[in-house]
Amino acid sequence: MISVKWGRPFRSLYTKLFLIIFSTGILLFVGVGSIYFHAVREGGIGIWREHAALYLNHLIDEIGSPPNLAVARQFTEQTNLGIRYQNPEREWFTAEEIPTFKQAQKWTWRERSGVRFGWWRGTMVMAVEREQDAFVFIQLYPEGTGFETFWAFVMLGGVVLILSGTYATLRWLFRPLRDLSRGVELISAGDLEYRVPEYRKDQFGRLSEAFNRMTRRIQHMITARERLLLDVSHELRSPLTRMKVALEFLPDSEVRNNVTHDVDEMETMVTGILENARLHSEYGKLNLSEFNLAPLLQEVVTEFRDQPPGVHLTALPPTLLLTVDAEQTRIVLKNLLTNALKYSTPESAPVDVRVQTDEQQTVIEVADHGVGITQDNQAFIFEPFYRTDSSRTKTTGGYGLGLSLCKTIMEAHQGTISVISEPGRGSVFRVGFPSKHDSLAS
Ligand code: ADP
Repeated sequence: MISVKWGRPFRSLYTKLFLIIFSTGILLFVGVGSIYFHAVREGGIGIWREHAALYLNHLIDEIGSPPNLAVARQFTEQTNLGIRYQNPEREWFTAEEIPTFKQAQKWTWRERSGVRFGWWRGTMVMAVEREQDAFVFIQLYPEGTGFETFWAFVMLGGVVLILSGTYATLRWLFRPLRDLSRGVELISAGDLEYRVPEYRKDQFGRLSEAFNRMTRRIQHMITARERLLLDVSHELRSPLTRMKVALEFLPDSEVRNNVTHDVDEMETMVTGILENARLHSEYGKLNLSEFNLAPLLQEVVTEFRDQPPGVHLTALPPTLLLTVDAEQTRIVLKNLLTNALKYSTPESAPVDVRVQTDEQQTVIEVADHGVGITQDNQAFIFEPFYRTDSSRTKTTGGYGLGLSLCKTIMEAHQGTISVISEPGRGSVFRVGFPSKHDSLAS
């Protein structure tokens, strides 16, 4: 069943503006129209009615007493004014469509010199009562002079044309707004290369220009920051190696162990940063080959199996042939499993690793029953250096680089990585590799 969201069109700016313009038009039309009608037309029509009443009274005199049908018919032929005469004894009319005096009374509400004026079925009707005699006059329209269907359609077409024109103009006017909102979406999704088209000189044009200037500046700032981070990490590698070598020569002590641990952590961080950058750069190509992922997955799971709360591997097919970089894939699986165990408690249920494969992709799921991640944090955990508040205060270690590296590796594979999590109940991380790697393999 198709469900239509009625609220939606009314949230659109164009529709709102269109409705405002449309209702302003109607209000103006009704307002100005009624003022014109009361102040201008009514005055003029009053004089006209006076003349008409005088004329009709003369006409009735001319028709004679008792009124003569033949004379009346002659008048109708000459002036297209239909006449109906009614008397308790007699009744005649010059055209059938003329209403009876009773009907006419209902539709006439203005009176001048004994003549009542009104409208009946779209035509003017006048009624006169003289003692026992009653006369009704209407304007007759000979064939072809009335309001034709053709003109009704022309009018309707005109209205539709004007309304569509207004709507199209509004859409054209607000096009930069659509471009800007697309720009904001793309840039917040990380595409800092996007520039909003600048084709106007109005306020929107200036806004687009300012927006592009801001994006360029942010891009420049981010690039500079990344460059600095990379340079520092690069420069740190040699002193770290020297420190490691020097530490080997120191006598075994608690201090030496602590410093070794710190140096190892720093090395992990520096390697993470550099690996991330390498995969992002054009030169950091993946080392792709057709590979059976099943033994690798088994191997990684075995490595972690004995750590509390343990790991369960289910639904592993004997062969899982994919075009991947085996070493990078190992990093992804290891990072996910490290996190799953790190953010579980020894009492939690074991971590589940599941494999699902279909025509489109092969999905590996790592599901833990640990602390979980709040909805707000889920949006950021794949960003470099992002750690949730609870992780920062814990002694779980890490620099918030693991998931960011996983994301970079998965993107390089044209794959996906996502998380479903509920605080207090655990998290499910899903990595999806495309089953066919046509573009990557070539
Ligand atoms: P870290 O080295 O801090 O673990 P990651 O990039 O691997 O860095 O993870 C980023 C953050 O995401 C972590 O600090 C943690 O708060 C959260 N996180 C990652 N995996 C899980 C998980 N399985 N359960 C709960 N929180 C997790």
